[in-house]
Amino acid sequence: MNEQEIMAMYEDAGALLNGHFILSSGRHSARYLQSALVLMDINNATALAGELINKVNADDYDMVVSPAIGGLVIGQEVARLLNKPFIFTERKEGEMQLRRGFSIPEATRLLVVEDVITTGGSVCECMAVVREHGGNPVRVLAIVDRAPDSEGRFDVPHETVIALRVETYAADDCPMCADGTPAIKPGSRGSA
Ligand code: ZN
Repeated sequence: MNEQEIMAMYEDAGALLNGHFILSSGRHSARYLQSALVLMDINNATALAGELINKVNADDYDMVVSPAIGGLVIGQEVARLLNKPFIFTERKEGEMQLRRGFSIPEATRLLVVEDVITTGGSVCECMAVVREHGGNPVRVLAIVDRAPDSEGRFDVPHETVIALRVETYAADDCPMCADGTPAIKPGSRGSA
């Protein structure tokens, strides 16, 4: 699939939203991608995971990890296609943790999978938890990169299937706020 076909998949699922949104970074934007609506259809999840695994060599990884909640569906599907174990990190009282009895054998090479990256905060917190547990995160894969021109977000290579350059505004410099349009805060942290 090319980028246009993937954007059409988002549009068909009603997942490309236009309005006035507050992103996890606190900045405001007129567009928002809700990957959960696309991933409702398991065929979409399989197709997108297939695009992601085309970018990697399965032999380079032992395990797949995702930060909950945004990365869960796509991470599980990537792991299924690669036939690797899948674990996830999650926030408890705001702090990313490895829970549910998951453990990471020493020197395990992990592929980190997320739905949408912007600042990369959730992915970095996930990788920090993996390292604390003795694992070695070696690459990041995400469906959408909302900030493709940013540098230095991750200390490992990363790849995405869609780059979505969307203008964002500080709250006190937002034209939609100036118009008096109410802003909404969709999804969870890390999902925009
Ligand atoms: Zn605004």
